[in-house]
Formats: sequence, structure tokens, C-alpha cells
Amino acid sequence: MSSRPTLPQGIRVFERGWLSSNNILAWGRESAALIDSGYCTHAGQTLSLVESALAGRELDVLVNTHLHSDHCGGNAALQDRYPDLRTHIPPGLAKHVRTWDPDALTYSPTGQSCPPFRFDTVLAPGTEIALGDLSWQVHAAPGHDPHSVILFEPTSGVLVSADALWESGFGVVFPELEGSDAFEEVGRTIDLIESLSPRIVIPGHGPIFTCIDQSIAAARKRG
Ligand SMILES: [Zn+2]
Repeated sequence: MSSRPTLPQGIRVFERGWLSSNNILAWGRESAALIDSGYCTHAGQTLSLVESALAGRELDVLVNTHLHSDHCGGNAALQDRYPDLRTHIPPGLAKHVRTWDPDALTYSPTGQSCPPFRFDTVLAPGTEIALGDLSWQVHAAPGHDPHSVILFEPTSGVLVSADALWESGFGVVFPELEGSDAFEEVGRTIDLIESLSPRIVIPGHGPIFTCIDQSIAAARKRG
């Protein structure tokens, strides 16, 4: 019984596939922002979706929930198209983005492409960021990626969950593949999401959803 939820004014989701993350456009009186930019081979489509939705307006802010190539592969193309774009990334890998180290960023070892991009600011957990007219809380969400953040807007109850919670579980837990015990962190991140009591979740992949208790139960089963 998942009804199609209505997002607040000024938030629009471009639902993409599994290779490219969803892109979330948040606009308001002062500025327009995009959360996550998809995979690089789909950057042309990301640009057209953003351009047509903004109808001539500039994109001012770009935010990445984490730096897997399906979430930041379109960053370079967006930065080319919008030279004044301010880019915010989670702090964990910032030093490797600054020097552009594709090994440390795991693109080379996993055979993924990600055109180099720059960033302006880190998205520190515990702070807030204004996207469009709304103020979003930044929360650390280790598990699927040790450096991921999720974004929560308490007035509307909208959670941008990245790959920490999908409608039927969560993304592959990469640190576990590398041998470290990340499932405890997955569990803590699911607890955090539950404590926020979101009303609508915009996941990194797949449709937005409101059946959050079921999704949390499914994620706990997998963990
Ligand atoms: Zn993803």
C-alpha cells in the first residue's frame, strides 16, 4: 500500500536507473540546488533534465550524498555548464578529491569512471545546509559507504536517504566486501533513520516512498 507521496513545493526528483543515482532538484527564491549527479555516461541526460526544469535559471549549488561514481559522475559536466556552481561533498574523502586520487576514491580499483571535479565546501554532519528555501540537516550515514551523509528536512519530514535506505533494503555494503565489519554501522544508520521519523523518503535509486516502517524492517532483515 505505497501511495505516491506529494513532495513539498520546490523539490523535484529525477528518478534514474540503477547505474545512475536519482537527482533531486531543490529550488527557492534565492537559489537552486541539485543533490547527486548520476553516472558520467548519463551526464548529458542529467544536464538536460536540470536545464529544462530550471528553464534558463542558473544552478547555484551541487551536493553529493557520497562519492560513488553513480552519485557524482555528472559533477564535472555540471561544473562546466554552471561555472559559479558551489559544490559540497561529505568530508571523508575530501582530501583525495582535492588532489584527485582515483585509487583512493576507489574509481580505478572498481573499474568505474568519474571525471575529475572540484569542490568548495564539506558537508559536515551535525550542520544544516540551505537548499532552495528549505534548511536540511546533515547526518552521517556510514554503512553502504563509510563516508555517506543523508539529508533531512524536519518541517516536511523529507529524508534524502542516498543508498542507506531504499524501498526494499539498502545498497551493497562496500566496506563489508573489503572485509571490514560494516553491518553494525548499517544497523546504527537504520536506527538513526528511524529516530528521525521521516514521512517521505527520496532514495538514491528507485521511487520515492512512504512505507518507511516496512523498508526499515526489510533493511534490518538484510543486516
Ligand atoms: Zn548509488
